[in-house]
This record gives sequence, structure tokens and C-alpha cells, in this order.
Amino acid sequence: MLSNDHIDAFKNITGPKGIITGADEIAPHVKEWRGKFFGKTDLMLAPATTDQVSQIVSYCNDHKIALVPQGGNTGVVGGGIPGLEGRNEVLITTKRMNKNIVVDADDYSIIVDAGCTIQSVQDAAAEQDRLFPLSLASEGSCTAGGVVSTNAGGVHVLRYGTTRALTVGIEAVLPNGQIYSDLSSLRKDNTGYALNQLLIGAEGTLGIITKVAFRLYPMEKQRYTYWLGIDSPATALKLLSSAREITGDRVSVFEILPELGLSLVLNNIPDTAAPLTAPYPWYVLMEVATTTRDNSLQLTLDTWLEAMMQNGLLLDGAEAQSEAQRKAFWKLRESMSEAQKYGGGSIKHDISVPVSHVPVFIEQTFTALEKHFPKCRPMPFGHLGDGNLHFNVLQPEGTNKEDFLSEWSSMNALVHDIVTEHKGSISAEHGIGTLKREELARLKDPAALAAMRTLKAALDPNNIMNPGVLFK
Ligand SMILES: Cc1cc2nc3c(=O)[nH]c(=O)nc-3n(C[C@H](O)[C@H](O)[C@H](O)COP(=O)(O)OP(=O)(O)OC[C@H]3O[C@@H](n4cnc5c(N)ncnc54)[C@H](O)[C@@H]3O)c2cc1C
Repeated sequence: MLSNDHIDAFKNITGPKGIITGADEIAPHVKEWRGKFFGKTDLMLAPATTDQVSQIVSYCNDHKIALVPQGGNTGVVGGGIPGLEGRNEVLITTKRMNKNIVVDADDYSIIVDAGCTIQSVQDAAAEQDRLFPLSLASEGSCTAGGVVSTNAGGVHVLRYGTTRALTVGIEAVLPNGQIYSDLSSLRKDNTGYALNQLLIGAEGTLGIITKVAFRLYPMEKQRYTYWLGIDSPATALKLLSSAREITGDRVSVFEILPELGLSLVLNNIPDTAAPLTAPYPWYVLMEVATTTRDNSLQLTLDTWLEAMMQNGLLLDGAEAQSEAQRKAFWKLRESMSEAQKYGGGSIKHDISVPVSHVPVFIEQTFTALEKHFPKCRPMPFGHLGDGNLHFNVLQPEGTNKEDFLSEWSSMNALVHDIVTEHKGSISAEHGIGTLKREELARLKDPAALAAMRTLKAALDPNNIMNPGVLFK
């Protein structure tokens, strides 16, 4: 319980609007949407300016009060939830820091407050005929500060990179309260350590991001969207390689989905329909996008698809003939996570391996899973173009859900060990949070881990910034 002196001090900094103590108002901020993490706090601070954030952090550093930053609370690894494991922490939300969005169309950049949603960043860019390519299902709620802090990925990484590639400048409050300002949209700057890069993916452990400068791109004017039926991930890899070549690297989406996932969607999610007349072992959702209206690309793609059918790589395929049909294809992909709930309990992995390793990785992991967890039903799906799979495993049919879920850690260890053999990552998109700290400690390169701890101790000697995250 924080003393009234502390609460008065915070009130002096933010004014009454920035102090939230009502349990009802705090409640949605102390639980994660997947229902896996439930925390608690007596106080949520909602500063409106960078200066207020700086004063709050400085005060907390002086009084050794721990802070947990939160943006849209769409994270899934327990990184933005205060009070987990009995810690006393104050929540600091950026929800009032969402007023400023400035587009510089000629500079292909946009500078935004940390609390702006990704949807609002996309919309502001689009108004000036520019593309902000970060796109993820949580974009209506997740924030600029949140995506930078988790280095979010989404469906366009293949073409435009992760948030790290899209971030050109950051303003942040460091754990001692100092304002670090590198908010320009400079593309070239070789003046020593790039602190920006440390803050990206730091999950709120090295400071609070208050503003971000993002890179923009020319607006995509034409999209070709395909739903393809194939026999295996190895074929998907060949198609990806070849499609990148013939389109001049204009493939912007390349997602792989198993038949098990599609059938769960079709059987359980309303208003969905199979794009192809027969089922196939695997499917690809592919999108090619151009910034010009270019009919020659359509011809190139038609010829390519015909050749792929003839050589037997492609078993069947459909091209979206309208925006409505395109959305229908996307609905199948986006419903995958929800649909798997109808298959019973599932154990999740958010992994990546080098793109060319994906087929072998899937094969090896399927074999190992069958040996150790007979009849479990692996359902990997996602961003083949980035080597990133949501490698979820459903319980065997007719078995007890709780028994199956009790294998969570041992199954994670088995899958993560194979990932590590391939020099992959145990967290491709969602971060470490509190969920994967043990696995990070077990599998991260010891030299990297030691350097991370040294950096944390140097920048945050009182361990006030998100103390339970990344390290135990
Ligand atoms: C339906 C759905 C789909 C998703 N799809 C994807 C996807 O495709 N790809 C992907 O990568 N992720 C995805 N996610 C995960 C999530 O949306 C991202 O992790 C997002 O980046 C979190 O942003 P947020 O603003 O909600 O951050 P929060 O959830 O509030 O916080 C996430 C982490 O960042 C820290 N943080 C937040 N704001 C700041 C700040 N201003 N300064 C410092 N630290 C801060 C928090 O302390 C926490 O550790 C998805 C989530 C959902 C619910």
C-alpha cells in the first residue's frame, strides 16, 4: 500500500486526472486478455506529457518505487501487468499520451505520441498517401510505445521488417528520470552506441518510451491475394522463393496454414467458407502488392501460377476477385487462434527458425512430439515468410484437457530445444515478459544474457523499471 505522501506527490505532478485509484477503473488493466495473468495494484498513473513521466520516474527512483509501463494491454506474456508474483508495483499507462501525430510525407516519416494506437498511425499516414506497414490483429488497441517495446512483427515483416526496422527515432524517460531524446527521422547516424536499439524490445525494463518516429512507405495501390492448396511446408518454401523472384520481391504476405486449422475454422467460426473445392494438407495465403497500378504483374502472376500447377507444386489455387473475397480469405487466417479453442486445450509456442529450415524443423518437431506426447495434434501456422510459426499443439482427441495442459513446460522445453538446434528464437513476436524468463535463462547465449544483466544494472541500479520482466 502506497502512503498518502506518495500519492500526493504524484497528484502534484499529474493533476487529479492522472491518478486512478478506483478498483473498477483499474480492473481491466491488471489482467491480460487471454486470461493467463491476473495482477493487482492500488495505483494507476496516467501522465499526459513527457515531462510528467520524467518527474514520476525520477520520484520513483528516489523512493525505490517499482513501475510497470502499459500501453494497450494487448501483450500476451505478462509483461505489462503489475503486481504479479506478489510484487508491489505502480502501473503507469500511456493512455492519455495519444494526441500528437505528425506526418512528413516527403521524409516518409511520422512522429507520434507513445499512446497512439497503431490503427491511428496507419490512418494518419494513409491520409497523406503513405503506408505505415505494421499490421497485426491487435492494431486497434496496441500502441506505438507497446509495439516498440515488444518489437512487434505482424503480417508484413517479409516485405517491411519488424518494428525495429520501422523505428527511426525514440524519445524515452530513462530509469533515473532523464529524458533521452533522439526523435529525429535520421536514416544515418554513426555517433556511438545506438540507445534506440536497446529500448526496442526492452519490454519496459530500461525506460518508458514517450514518443516514436516511424519510417513510412509509398502506399500500396494494388494487391493480388491468393489462397493456395499444397502438399507440404517444403513446397510452400519453394513457392515462396520462386514468387519473390518473379515479382521483383513484391510478396508482402506469405502465411502457411494446416488443414487441421482450416477445418476447425470452417466448422466453428460463422460466415467462413473454403476457398477451394477439395481439402489439401496445407494452404498458403499469399499477397503481392505494388505501389503502381501495374497490369504486367497480373500477367506475370497468372503465368507463374499456371507453371506451378503444371509442375505439380501447386495442387489448386484461388485468387481473390474482390475486396470482399480478399477479406474472406483473411478471415480464415485471422480466425485460426480462436478456432483452435474448439479443438480443446492447446500448448503454445511463438518460435522462429531461419526460413529455409522451416520444413525440416516442422518434420523433426512432429516426430519428437508424437514420440513424447502420442496422438497430440500439432497445428503450426503463421508467417512462413519470416520463419515464424505459432507452433500450437492441440490435445489428443478424447483426452482430459487439464492433464494435457500440465505438460506445458515439458512440451515447451522439447520444442524450444529443437528451435535452439536450428539457431532459432523461442520468442519471435511476443517477447519474454514473465512467461518465458526461465526458458530465456536456460537457452539464451550466456554472454548475451550477462551483457543484458550488466546493461540493466547500469541503467536501472534500483531495479524500478518493470522488475519482474526478462529476468527473475
Ligand atoms: C489479437 C492479438 C493479435 C496479436 N498479434 C500480434 C502479431 O501479429 N505480432 C506481434 O508481434 N504481436 C501480436 N500481438 C501481441 C501484442 O499486440 C503486441 O505485443 C503489442 O506490441 C503490444 O502493444 P501494447 O501497446 O498493447 O503493449 P502492452 O501490452 O501494454 O505492453 C507490452 C509490453 O510493453 C511494455 N510497454 C508498453 N508501453 C510501453 C512504453 N510506452 N514504454 C515502455 N514500455 C512499454 C509493457 O511494460 C509490456 O512489457 C497480438 C495481440 C493480440 C491481443
